[in-house]
Amino acid sequence: MQKADCFSPEYHEYSRNLLETALKDLSAYRSWRAFDPGDRHPVDARYAALPALTKKDIRDHFPVGFVPPDRDIKRGLQSGEIEFVKTSGTSNVSVTNIWNQKWWDGSERASWRLNSHAIRLAKGTPLEAILANPLNVGFVSNDEDLPMEKRRLARFLYLNEKSDPALWTPALMDRMSDELAEFRPAILEANPSLLAKLCRYLAGCGKKVFQPDLIVFTYEYPSVLHDRQIRRVFASPTASSYGSTETGYVFMQCEEGKFHQNSESCRVDFQPLKPRHGGHGIGRILVTPFDNPWYRIIRFDVGDLVRLDQGGACPCGRNSGIILSAIEGRMAAVTLTLTGRLVTLRELDNVIGGISGIDEYALEQTEKDSYDLAIVSQVKDKKALAGEARALLRRLYGDGAKISVRYEDAISPDSTGKYRLAKADFPLNGEDFLDENGLPENQ
Ligand SMILES: [Zn+2]
Repeated sequence: MQKADCFSPEYHEYSRNLLETALKDLSAYRSWRAFDPGDRHPVDARYAALPALTKKDIRDHFPVGFVPPDRDIKRGLQSGEIEFVKTSGTSNVSVTNIWNQKWWDGSERASWRLNSHAIRLAKGTPLEAILANPLNVGFVSNDEDLPMEKRRLARFLYLNEKSDPALWTPALMDRMSDELAEFRPAILEANPSLLAKLCRYLAGCGKKVFQPDLIVFTYEYPSVLHDRQIRRVFASPTASSYGSTETGYVFMQCEEGKFHQNSESCRVDFQPLKPRHGGHGIGRILVTPFDNPWYRIIRFDVGDLVRLDQGGACPCGRNSGIILSAIEGRMAAVTLTLTGRLVTLRELDNVIGGISGIDEYALEQTEKDSYDLAIVSQVKDKKALAGEARALLRRLYGDGAKISVRYEDAISPDSTGKYRLAKADFPLNGEDFLDENGLPENQ
C-alpha cells in the first residue's frame, strides 16, 4: 500500500478544491452532497464516502451537469476549444464526452515524465507511427488502400486504415514494414493485438524491421502472447500507457515495468476486492482528473481492475503516487470459477500464455459452468493442444468445468475495434465483488 505522504501538498489541495466546487456548483453531483462528511474530515476520507461516477451518470447529466458555471458551452464549441466526442467502451455503452485538446495534451506530457525513454524523446517533436484500429484513431478505408500522404497528420503516421485486421494482405503488411523504414519514427504507438499480428507475419518472412526508440502499448490489454510475438521482431523498449477519454492519462509504465500514477494530472482512489476474489492487492480504480477547465469528472469508474505493487518502492526511484505491479484487465473481461471466485483477465491470460503454439484466443463463459475457448494456431497436433488447454482451464476454473475448444482462422476485434480476450455471457455487477470493509483509499 502507498503511504499518504507519497502525494504532494498540491495533490490534496486540487482534490479538495475539485470536490468542494463540484458538490457546490454542479448538478451531476447534487445527490452526492448528503454523503460528504464535511470539511473537518481529511480529503481522502471525504472522497471515500462518495459514490462512484458511472457512464450512466455521464449520460444522465451531460453536458451541463459537468461544466463549471463560468464556462459557456456554446461559445466553447464555436471557438473549437472543445468538442463533443462519442466513445463506446467494451461494455458497448455509448457515451458522449467533452473533448478539450489542450487538457489532453497536458495530461499526456505529464505521463511521459514517468518513463525515462519517453522523457528523452519528448524533448524534441518526435515522429510517431500509430498502429491502431482506425475506429479508435486515424482514417478508415476498408475498400481501397490509402497512400501514405493520406494517413499523415502533424507528426503522426497512421499505419493501418482497415477496421478489421482480417482485411490485411501480405502486401499491406509489407507496406507497414516499408513505411516504418522510410518514416523512421522515434515512437511506435500500437494496439498490442495488431502489432502482434504484424510481427507474426514479419517473423514468418524473416524480414528485418526498423526499430523505434520506444514502443507504447495503448487501447487494449497487452496479452503475454502478444508481448512474446512482438519481442521476436522488436528489441525496442516497450511501455504501456493507461487512460481513457474521460480521465486522460492515468498510469504510465516506467522502464522497470511498474505502473506509476500520473499524479500531476489526476487523483486515483483504489477500492479493494473481497479477500476471496483476490484480496486487498487487487481492486478497481476511481479517477478524478485535475486541470480540465471544461469537464469536471469526479471518481469515474474506468471499468478496470489493477494490482497494487506490494514492494512499496520502485527501483526507478519515482514515488509520487500509487504504484501498480499490473493492470489486471477490464471488469467486463472477468470470468468466474465454479465456486464463483472472480478470475481477472490477467490471471486467465497468464494461464493461456503458458501454452505454446497459440497465436490468438478468445474465451467466453457461456454459463456458470461452461467455457468456450476459440484458438488461432499454426501447430500441427491440434488435438494435443486442445487437450492441454482444457486441462489447464479445468485447473483454473474447477474440475467439473465444461470446456469446449474450437479452432478459428482469425479472431476479429469487436464493434469497438478492440480485441476481447475474455467475457462472461451473463451480467456481473462489479460492486458485488468489492470489499465494503476495505481500507479507506490511499492509507
Ligand atoms: Zn518505476
